[in-house]
Order: sequence, then C-alpha cells, then structure tokens
Amino acid sequence: MNTFQDLGLNQDLLQAINDLGFVTPSDVQQKTIPTLLQQETDLVALAQTGTGKTAAFGFPMLQKIDVDSRTTQGLILSPTRELCLQITNEMQLYGKYLKGLNVTAIYGGASITDQASKVKKGAQIIVATPGRMKDMISRRLVDITKIEYCVLDEADEMLNMGFYEDITDILSHTPEDKSTWLFSATMPQEVATIAKKFMHQPVEITVGTKNQGSDQVSHEYYLVNARDRYSALKRLADANPDIFSVVFCRTKRDTQKIAEQLIEDGYNAAALHGDLSQNQRDLVMKSFRNKQIQMLVATDVAARGIDVDDITHVINYQLPDEIETYTHRSGRTGRAGKTGVSMVIISKSEQRKIKSIERIIKKEFIKKDIPNGMEICEVQLMSLANKVHNTEINHEIDGYLDNINELFEDTSKEELIKKFFSVEFTRFFNYYQKAADLNVSGDDRSDRSERGASQGSGNSTRYFINVGKRDGFSWTSLKDFLRECLQMGRDDIFKVDVMDSFSFFNTETSDMPKVLEFFTDFKHEGRFVNVEVSEDKGKQHSRGRSKGKDRGKRKESTGNFFDASKRDKRSDKSSKKDKRKSKSGLERPRRSRR
Ligand code: AMP
Repeated sequence: MNTFQDLGLNQDLLQAINDLGFVTPSDVQQKTIPTLLQQETDLVALAQTGTGKTAAFGFPMLQKIDVDSRTTQGLILSPTRELCLQITNEMQLYGKYLKGLNVTAIYGGASITDQASKVKKGAQIIVATPGRMKDMISRRLVDITKIEYCVLDEADEMLNMGFYEDITDILSHTPEDKSTWLFSATMPQEVATIAKKFMHQPVEITVGTKNQGSDQVSHEYYLVNARDRYSALKRLADANPDIFSVVFCRTKRDTQKIAEQLIEDGYNAAALHGDLSQNQRDLVMKSFRNKQIQMLVATDVAARGIDVDDITHVINYQLPDEIETYTHRSGRTGRAGKTGVSMVIISKSEQRKIKSIERIIKKEFIKKDIPNGMEICEVQLMSLANKVHNTEINHEIDGYLDNINELFEDTSKEELIKKFFSVEFTRFFNYYQKAADLNVSGDDRSDRSERGASQGSGNSTRYFINVGKRDGFSWTSLKDFLRECLQMGRDDIFKVDVMDSFSFFNTETSDMPKVLEFFTDFKHEGRFVNVEVSEDKGKQHSRGRSKGKDRGKRKESTGNFFDASKRDKRSDKSSKKDKRKSKSGLERPRRSRR
C-alpha cells in the first residue's frame, strides 16, 4: 500500500491531504488507517511524536463521524495545552472540506465560558487536556455520553503528569461500547494497565520497537568534569553553527540560570519552564518556531508537547531523574523524516546511566569528544566561508562600491579574503586559542568510541570533505559512503562530523595516500568531491605526506588566520571569567543574532 487512496480514505480527506502536500502515508498511518476504517476496534499504537500519528487517528475519526449531527462523537485527550491546540489545528486542516465540521479545543488557562459556548454550537470532536475536561464534565458544560471514538494521545506522558485519576474519571462518563485508540511513545507498566483496564482486545501496532526511539536519531555522549558542563555546552553549540536545539535541564532554577548565561554569552537562547506565565511561554514558543531562538533551554514538563519538526539537536545538559524520560527528550528531534542528534553531557559518576538508557532505547550511544578550540575555529570559519560563497549579491551595494574599491586599491585579493574572514574568525580564535581539553579520560568503553582504537595512538589524520547535510549526508551515511568508495572496514573511518555543507573525518595516517589518491578528480552525482587534510590535525602528519606534494593539504589560510590574530590569551576555562569578559564586549565569540 503506497498511497493515501489505497488506505480507503474518501475524496474530501484526499483533497485536504493533497493540499497539505502529504505524498506517502507514514508507517503508522499505513498500519492504522485501514484497520480503523474497516473495523470498530480498540487499538494500542506505539509511536513516537513526529511519526504522523495525529493523522493516523485523525483521518479515520474524521471519516467515521457524522458532520451533519451536532452531537459530540469523538474525544481526543492530550497531555498539554500546546499539543491540544496542535491536534485541533491539524484536525481542522485535515477536515477542511467537511462542511459543518466543528473541532473544539478545551484546555486550562483560557476562558471556560468561551470553550463551553463553542462546544454548545455542536462540536462533533473535542480535543482536551484531562484537567479542564474533568472540570467541564463536573459543571455539565460538555456531554460525552454518546461518543463513539476516544483517543488517548501520548498516554505515557499523561500518566507521567499524574492524570491517571482524571482519565479514569473522564472515561467513566463515556459509553462502554465506544472504540478507544491509545497512542504512546513508550509502554511502561502504567500504560499497559490502562490498556488492560479500559480496552477490549485492542489491535496492537508498533512503529519501531517498543520503547525504542526514532531510527532517525543518533545518540552521543560527552564525558566531562561536572564543573566543565557549561563550557562543554557552549562548545557543542559553537561546533554546530546552524544548531536549532532544545537543551534539557533538571530543574526550573537550572533552566533559568543556563538560559541567562547563554544569553549573556551572546547565544540566541531562552528559558521555558513552569514559573513562566502562559503568555510568556507562548511568546518563547513563537520565537522558537520562528527560529529567532536557536537554543531553547527547558524543563521536561515545560517541553512536553513541543511539536517543532526541524529541531537538529537535543542536548541533555543533565540527564533526567527518570531515565524513561530520555525517550521523550530525544524524540523532540528526528521528526517528520528528518535526522537528528541527541547529545548527553555527563560526568564520570553518571556513566552507568548511559547503559540503562541504551537498554531502554535499544540503541548504542557513541562516545564523542568535546571539540577542541581549533576544531571549533575551523568549523566556524568554514561555515562563514560557505555562507559568503552562497550569498546572493545585493545590488543595492553597487552605489557604494567606488568608495570601497578605493579603500582596498592596494590590497590584493588574497589579502582581502584574509582580512574579511579575520573579522569574524578572530573572535573565535581569541576565545579558543588556549582553550583547555574538556574531555575526561578513563572511560572503559573507548572500544565503542567512534574514534576507533587507532586514534588514541595519535597516528590518525583528519580530513575535510566538501559535502554535508545539504547533500543528504548524516554521519552514518557519510561513513558508509567513504567506506564504500575507499573499500575500507567499519573502524577504518572514524570521527565523522557532518556540518551543513562540509564534513570532517579521520583515518589512520597510513591510509592518507589512498584517501587523497581516490578523491583526486572524483565526482559524485555530477559534482566534484574534494577531500583535503584538515590543517589543524593534519599538521602533525604533514611530513609523512606522499611524494611531498601539497595536493590534498588544505590551503594555508587557516594557519595564516591563526597567525594574524594571536593577540588574546584567554581560554574558555572559567565561566565566571567568561561573564566578566563578555560584559566588556571585547573578546567573546558573540554569535550574530538573526
Ligand atoms: P505528528 O506525529 O502527528 O506530530 O506529525 C508530525 C508532522 O508530520 C506534522 O507536521 C504533520 O503535519 C506531518 N505529517 C503527517 N503525516 C505526514 C505524511 N504522510 N507526509 C508528510 N508529512 C506528514
């Protein structure tokens, strides 16, 4: 089954699907929609957010209800106001060609009278959070005694949030013979109990494995001293210039503190936690959606229901108390067919938790190193170079060119390039040139590290390659691509770091001639793929380069930039120092605000 038509949906819905641009039904949609359309059955579906589950229950519900009737026939319970509004919005989009459809959202923090009057107008479907729903039932503002379909969405979250009593109470007001469809990302005992108690021989559908996170997410951990946690966070952000992330902290206080520190240090960050008013939270979410915020620092509770599709990284600044919660955190990335990375910053004492999480997600973590200062400088420089390269010329500038040209009359092209990039680069260089190594050694799992055994001996070479995420590569697919091209084994390519339009990787130095040889005039999908030794790490091996040629060595530009800007001696070791310096506005690598 490959099309929505094949699933048995009617014309009104197909037209809306077409308008939305959905082409192929997702896995969970393929599995649920035909079943729910053909049978009156209970259903338990294990599916993460981002898999298209709203449509998986939404389309069948919309097709089955009678829009000519004003009776409430469908009830969807969801854990948070945000999710409740999102589901309502999606349902309205899916049902836009169903004349007379009324989908009403019921949630706390808004006028109960307004919501009651919308219901009274004849809501065939109610989407509600449990607390407000229970309140409205007790005040007889809603009537759910005739519903035919009840969805428990993100059931594990609802139970985590302590809604068991409310759900039980709400369900007691619904008919025995309704169909109940339960959707959950994980299957802890509490959810299994609910399924057993309220459902009759439910059809079970699993997307992925039980409790397992999305296949689209890779999991990495970084071992640092507890005191270096914040510096490590900043480095991870600086090593990923296009990061769009949620940073999870354990408490509201830490969330606020880290967000404030990040803002002070020039990052586009904001805090999201329960001490903010609903209005403040809405504003933060709006800025995050618009990508004015690149790092949203959040507590687990506040982040529930964040439904933004293109989050690139989830950063676990601290691991959650309940390790089950990790699945929810990492599920915020890798949504809607995109890939994502879930990073964990841990100290030595927390290392055992990684093993427990691996058992839950049924995936292995990759131990990675916090990038060193020069690696970050290189990433930032190349990111800027690519941005400049891809920038469209704004001809409004033409009128000023004479004056600019006059100023640079005696400057060669090479010098001009160096000067131009030094403007931005020097800030990072000054900040990072003496940066300490934040990595803690002594990890018994180094055999599992992506670096492989050989790199520890210092006998490896790092390369730059001019393909990245924009060319459809993730670190795993780039590793596979390189292995295939170079006919190398699983551990022969390591430390693969994929950026937007370029990447880095390592091999043993003895493989360098082979690597450079292969990528001479090599074309992939019509485009030259260029591999060069990355200057920073490659330096130590440059004497060993075959035939003493310069081919394959990255242009000296990086080195010269370094030379040109050796002024500031500070490192990122002390965050107190960071703050003091950042106030002066002198050398912090302040990120440009969008
Ligand atoms: P959900 O898991 O329901 O939160 O859906 C995640 C996102 O995927 C939402 O923005 C949906 O609009 C979108 N979506 C759902 N089904 C499809 C599909 N078949 N093709 C493309 N996008 C989809």
